[in-house]
Amino acid sequence: MENRLRLLYSLQRIDSEHDDIRDLKGDLPQRVANLEQQLSEKESILRSLQDQSKTSVLRRDEHDLEIAAQREKIEKYKSQQFDVKTNKQYDALTREIEFSQERIDTLQREIDVLEGRAKLAKDDQELLKPEIEALRNELKERIEELEVVNAEHEEEELKLQHEREKIVVQIAKADIRTYERIRQAKEGIAVVPVRRNACGGCFKRVPPQTMQELRKNAQLMTCEHCGRILVSDGIVEAVAAQK
Ligand SMILES: [Zn+2]
Repeated sequence: MENRLRLLYSLQRIDSEHDDIRDLKGDLPQRVANLEQQLSEKESILRSLQDQSKTSVLRRDEHDLEIAAQREKIEKYKSQQFDVKTNKQYDALTREIEFSQERIDTLQREIDVLEGRAKLAKDDQELLKPEIEALRNELKERIEELEVVNAEHEEEELKLQHEREKIVVQIAKADIRTYERIRQAKEGIAVVPVRRNACGGCFKRVPPQTMQELRKNAQLMTCEHCGRILVSDGIVEAVAAQK
């Protein structure tokens, strides 16, 4: 049992050290993540606007080609009208000419719509580009800041991570779960020493009976006020001596 308590207290010390480093970094990692998210959203909007422009222009070009073809047809029909022998043939060609002209009118109206759409997409792109540029610059700066802070603590963090892994494998899964649950509920502090008969977490008095039990290091005792796991001076000293 003593070993079990010692391991839990060691784990707490490592996690607290790690938390201190995280506090030094502040909200920088979160800000970098937020900026990356914003940037990728805006870049994706820009890409879809560029696609819209491209598609509109392509379709307009296709329409232009078809208009040219229809005009050629009209010219052909008109010249054929000079050679026809009957009114019926002449009228048939007139209908063909009208049909082609209607098609040209329709295509022309569609071209106006496509050009309007292309212009809107273009305008939106122009608005978006400086926003993206500003985001990229800010992200670059923040990443550089973060890299500096990370580099300062990288070695320390790796060491802590390594120590943590070595300890975690020695602790029962149920104990880890209890530890993590309390740690999450109690601002990262799950295991506390008892000092001057008071809980090191909430500083409330630990009753003499609990103190007696605690000194035996024979079972997992929790603070009756805050629920944190309590460890005796003996455990604290043993862990300090190990370091
Ligand atoms: Zn407490």
